[in-house]
Parts: sequence; C-alpha cells; structure tokens
Amino acid sequence: MSDASRLPESAIDASGKIRVLVDLDGVVRDFVTGLKRVYQNHFPGHAVQEITSRNLEAFFPIGEKIYPFMDETHAEEILTTAPPYPGALEALARWEKHFHIVVVTAQPPQGRAPTFLWLGKHRVATAEVHVRADKETVPGFALLDDFDDNLERFARTGRLAVCLDRPWNRNWKGPRVHSVEAFFRLVRKKLTEQ
Ligand SMILES: [Mg+2]
Repeated sequence: MSDASRLPESAIDASGKIRVLVDLDGVVRDFVTGLKRVYQNHFPGHAVQEITSRNLEAFFPIGEKIYPFMDETHAEEILTTAPPYPGALEALARWEKHFHIVVVTAQPPQGRAPTFLWLGKHRVATAEVHVRADKETVPGFALLDDFDDNLERFARTGRLAVCLDRPWNRNWKGPRVHSVEAFFRLVRKKLTEQ
C-alpha cells in the first residue's frame, strides 16, 4: 500500500502494519447522544440545546453541574449506553486488515471501566487501547479526533492530525473528514504521497 520504509520505526508494528490512532468519544462512540439520553431520564422536563461547543454548561439547564453529572455520578451509565456512530465500527473492522488500529481516549477515572466494557460489547476492531489525555505521546502515523486541542498538539509533533467533523470543532483549520471510513482513505492517500 505504501513505502513504509520512509516512516519512522515507531509508526510501524512488528508485523509491518502502520499504526493509526483513533479517538473514541465524538468519533466512534456518540457520547453526546448517550449524555442527552441519561440527562433526559433524570430531568425529563429540561430542554437541552443542540451542542455546538465543548462548553457543555451552555446547553444543559443544570449549567456547570453537567460536569460532575457526566464525569462522576452518571459516567458509567452514559458511557456504557452511548451508541456508536453509524458506520464507525464497520469502518474499523474493514481497515484493521491494513492498519494497526490504536484507540486513544481520555477518560475521567470513573470512565475507564465503562469504556473497556463498551469496547468489548461492540467488539471494536482495535489492536491497542490507551486511556490518556496526552495523545501526542503515542506513536503512530496519524490521529483521528474531534477535539481541536488534541489535534493541535498532535500536529505539532509533525504528524497527520485529522478532524472528524462535528458541530463543536468547526474552528480546526487542518484536514477534516466526515466519517471514520473517509479517514482511512485519507491516510492511505497520504501514505502513497510519502
Ligand atoms: Mg473525542
């Protein structure tokens, strides 16, 4: 597929597959839908606005209390019940033949166990999972993420940082795709240009 010999050794696994990093929430797992569902169960009368930024306090009537609601008291319920985005799991399964897929996800302490449960429940095609916020420290050719801070830090390491288009990341000026499938196609194209 590509001239892997020009890539740094750290970007390639022992079998010769190129490592690619994929974020979970906002990319594969629809965290926002999970959060809204659990929120509505607890506050059925509350109107939740469409989420267009990461400042969640602006969209939920409980304001700043949304953070302990999602990261502490209801993390398990939200993270285990959030649905996958349509097509995301299928794309990972399709491309794992060609790439060493690394899931890299930042989680609060209460989010770790439910995240591993979710990965197992949905049989996510991944060879490696990192629960950490400093994604730029993980070896790999490219990162797919929905959070522009993560993308900026990764891009500063000189690697390919690709944004999965969501209403909350429209400020990112770099490469942008609309699906996990499109990300792998872009990676393949970039590799042939190496
Ligand atoms: Mg994310």
